[in-house]
Amino acid sequence: MSVPMVDLKIQYDAMKDEIDRAVLSVIEKTAFIMGPQGKALEQSIADYHGVKFAVGVASGTDALHLALRAAGIGPGDEVITTPFTFIATAEAVSYVGAVPVFVDIRPDTFNMDVSQIASRITKHTKAILPVHLYGQAVDMGPLMAIAKKHGLKVIEDCAQSFGSEYKGKKTGSVGEMGCFSFFPSKNLGCYGDGGMVITNDQKLADHLQSLRNHGSRVRYYHDEIGYNSRLDEIQAAVLNIKFKRIDVYNENRRKNAALYNTYLNVPGIQTPVESADGTHVYHQYTIRLKDRDAVKKRLDDAKMSSMIYYPVPLHLQSAYKGLGMMPGSLPASEQAAREVLSLPMYPELTVEQIRTVADAVKKALS
Ligand SMILES: *Cc1c(COP(=O)(O)O)cnc(C)c1O
Repeated sequence: MSVPMVDLKIQYDAMKDEIDRAVLSVIEKTAFIMGPQGKALEQSIADYHGVKFAVGVASGTDALHLALRAAGIGPGDEVITTPFTFIATAEAVSYVGAVPVFVDIRPDTFNMDVSQIASRITKHTKAILPVHLYGQAVDMGPLMAIAKKHGLKVIEDCAQSFGSEYKGKKTGSVGEMGCFSFFPSKNLGCYGDGGMVITNDQKLADHLQSLRNHGSRVRYYHDEIGYNSRLDEIQAAVLNIKFKRIDVYNENRRKNAALYNTYLNVPGIQTPVESADGTHVYHQYTIRLKDRDAVKKRLDDAKMSSMIYYPVPLHLQSAYKGLGMMPGSLPASEQAAREVLSLPMYPELTVEQIRTVADAVKKALS
């Protein structure tokens, strides 16, 4: 039995009628951009996070880009972030002309090691951009304390953490802005590209609404050079339906992770470490293996799915060779890139599928 990394068809089939009706209704009304579906979704997502504003945008990458621009980050500025993430996190910093400054990660949670932030702060540092990787919150308490002390903005990359919490607060609601991706395979995913920024700050929300719509507040009057970055109504209609189920999806992911943990409780496998301060929503279920490449090869040969998120930390990517960082400079990230392996994870996984994957991993280990 082969098990895919994600199965979006199962989820669609479970609510096909509802989705089909909602999508067709958008088409019937021919209101495709900036309509009632998007507005309703923004309200639901703001309420869910206990914040005042949510602004739909065209992708998670755009959410980060527009948030950085709204925060006034620009050329010459430095933004402290993690190298162990998807490249979009750093790309957004580069888009506004700022420089990503990478701090190493904690080997247990794979998240930014907050104790290393202070040593990387310079007079150019303007913001910290934590990424709640795999669905688990960064240590936001100490991070916010450092940010406050140095007058830095905090923009959270929540692309993988929709619904996860830090000390009872939803990720994205702790810093100035939280940025979400609705890429299809994310915990809350649409049927194309989509994203959102949440904030409690009315000025930031107003600026984001303008930036996503060509720098315009009144039609055909443009206050600044903005972007075409709106969340369309078909995507919002799909998201309004899936949003109602997000807590159940995340609960099922947690149950699946717990099952994996019991089956994979053997020497040689480091199962995910949950921090005491938050809830992990398992966007990915990621284990650590000393001999990762050999195990992955045996899994590939056995036609069992697994993926490496991510094989090359950002400071060693060709795209960032201009930063001049050498192998060995961020050792925990580099070691994680050599040792991590993500296994199939989605809410609808069955007990049998989980056992099949786990058995294949254990077999590949020996
Ligand atoms: C998916 C992802 C993004 C980008 O989101 P898109 O919607 O694909 O643009 C940014 N950061 C992280 C950590 C992600 O996983």
